[in-house]
Amino acid sequence: MSLRINEIFYSIQGESLYAGLPCVFIRLTGCNLRCAYCDTRYAYHEGMDMTIPEILGQVESHPAAALVEITGGEPLFQQETPDLVKQLLDQGRTVLMETNGSLDISLTDSRCIRIMDIKCPSSLMDAHNDPDNLGRIRPDDQIKFIIGTQADYVYALNTVKQIPPDFPRSSVLFSPAFGSLSPGLLATWILQDGLGVRLHLQLHKLIWPNYPRKGRGSLERRPGFNHGDRHCPK
Ligand code: SF4
Repeated sequence: MSLRINEIFYSIQGESLYAGLPCVFIRLTGCNLRCAYCDTRYAYHEGMDMTIPEILGQVESHPAAALVEITGGEPLFQQETPDLVKQLLDQGRTVLMETNGSLDISLTDSRCIRIMDIKCPSSLMDAHNDPDNLGRIRPDDQIKFIIGTQADYVYALNTVKQIPPDFPRSSVLFSPAFGSLSPGLLATWILQDGLGVRLHLQLHKLIWPNYPRKGRGSLERRPGFNHGDRHCPK
């Protein structure tokens, strides 16, 4: 049993309520969507096959491996991902999974913290959001909107109204699309509408603004991948 892996690296968590913590990232190859602003296109196809024991061995080589994030691409695009998640959890790690919200998030172990990225209109992929996932979300999960326009904001606002009331609004993250929407303007809208959601900035882009996405923040990368001296958590 193997998964196609784009990269494994150690960096600072840049997105989510875990932002700022050291984390090992496992980026899986492949995605079922093609967002207009996607900056991980290199993960659509590039990668190499690794068995789960090989992946676990790579994770263990990092000193702060207590926190692991599975990202992509789209992690649930690969059938073996739930098994990888389970084995990481069984080792006592905290496991985050960034998912684009178009595939069934209940396929993963209930101990996994899902960070569900609901696609707004400017992604051109909003028609692919699976509305049933709002019923599958658990209080420990997080919901994220990347907002690039006012139309995106209105879409996010209307979607928030459909999130079950017991899901904490402080775990709903509104993130301005980098370079498209000013964080100040998004903050103003959030305050005006009294949504109770969290303004969220991509920490790694503040720390390493001049590095290309792939490789930002990494101290060490897996041999065999052509990463060069670059840095990037997600
Ligand atoms: S879901 Fe993520 S990886 Fe897939 S196309 Fe959209 S931004 Fe890119």
